[in-house]
Amino acid sequence: MTPGHSSSPPLAKSLPPVDGREGHEQRLASGYGARSSNSGLVPLTVARRSPKEDDVEIAIEYCGLCHSDVHATRGEWSAPKYPLIPGHEIVGRVSRVGSAVDDLSVGQLVGVGCMVDSCRECERCLDGFEQYCETGVVSTYGAADPRNEGAITQGGYSSSVVVDRRYVLRVPTNLDPAAVAPLLCAGITTYSPLRHFGVEEGDVVGVVGLGGLGHMAVKLAKAMGAEVKVFTTSEVKIAAAKELGADDVVLSKDAASMAAAEGSIDVIIDTVAAPHDLDPYFRTLRLEGALFQLGLPSEPMPPVNPWTLSRRRIAYSGSYIGGIAETQEMLDFCAEHGVVSDIEIVSAAQLNDAYDRMVAGDVKYRFVLDTKSLPAPAAKADA
Ligand code: NAP
Ligand code: ZN
Ligand code: ZN
Repeated sequence: MTPGHSSSPPLAKSLPPVDGREGHEQRLASGYGARSSNSGLVPLTVARRSPKEDDVEIAIEYCGLCHSDVHATRGEWSAPKYPLIPGHEIVGRVSRVGSAVDDLSVGQLVGVGCMVDSCRECERCLDGFEQYCETGVVSTYGAADPRNEGAITQGGYSSSVVVDRRYVLRVPTNLDPAAVAPLLCAGITTYSPLRHFGVEEGDVVGVVGLGGLGHMAVKLAKAMGAEVKVFTTSEVKIAAAKELGADDVVLSKDAASMAAAEGSIDVIIDTVAAPHDLDPYFRTLRLEGALFQLGLPSEPMPPVNPWTLSRRRIAYSGSYIGGIAETQEMLDFCAEHGVVSDIEIVSAAQLNDAYDRMVAGDVKYRFVLDTKSLPAPAAKADA
């Protein structure tokens, strides 16, 4: 753990509970984000709302860097509204609460993942699948927030954030908070399909791509009792994958090794961030195996060969993060099994370099921003 982050900031501790109905002022927070698709990440100042009655203000300590942040800030998926402060792997301490918040208290260690609201009324929301909300989930950054005058949400590369209590997670205190941050996206995104498939002892799980999501898939599948086979394009990661707990590692560029893995796997968690041919991976699945594609490349994928799927009744599925209750379950599972992310802490000034390194696959396995390195906010908000 990084020194200085073991207790809440003194300022946060001294603040009384606030009821937003009384019309308290917004607060300026520091941040780092993109002004355009090619600006890189630059210092930005963001106005955070005063906590309304159900809101929790969080003094952010750490925020993980997800490959989705790269796709989003560089406009690789769609043209976002700039300026855009990314970050959806947030860990920090409660600094203020609204008057109706009685289950979270000032100083408590909490987390926020990929969503900060949803309709709360549709069947999916009521069933705990807020990420699949019928009217659209409100993402932690870059989304219009209907309950807050349609303001565009701004993420966790920032000194603070204000979030409705229903979307705030309790962070176990027996784990390193910096290494917990990536669980809020990389952890839950891989935990959810593993659970959905019902992975248990004796199953063989394949993990394609050993980055942020991939290394969490390895750790979580091992903790669930599965045998794990990693597929990587990087020769240098073969030994590293074994260190993480993988039972077997296949260099996916090597056709002979791929052929040897044929028909050996129950479920594949594919985390590759770029287009790639899935056919060689489908071939490694057993009868009624499944491949969950979690990576969301900006370019189209090569076509799927229906023959490969049909011959073994293989299921090809997507999966999107996880619901709030499932995210809490995942955090508690990690606390019980001592699972955290392998991280490299970066300062705000290193964020652009970290993005380039992530795109080049040069990270073991998640960069995490230490928000102590953020500059002070400017006198006027950019976002
Ligand atoms: P990451 O840390 O950059 O890892 C991606 C890994 O994919 C790389 O380390 C690399 O592993 C492999 N890879 C192989 N060829 C690649 C190429 N040409 N370009 C990039 N990577 C390549 O990324 P991440 O944060 O784990 O995210 C992975 C993907 O999942 C992204 O597309 C992200 O947007 C998406 N995502 C989806 C969800 C969801 O809910 N579905 C949630 C979060 C993220 P090897 O070196 O081992 O081959
Ligand atoms: Zn993410
Ligand atoms: Zn809904």
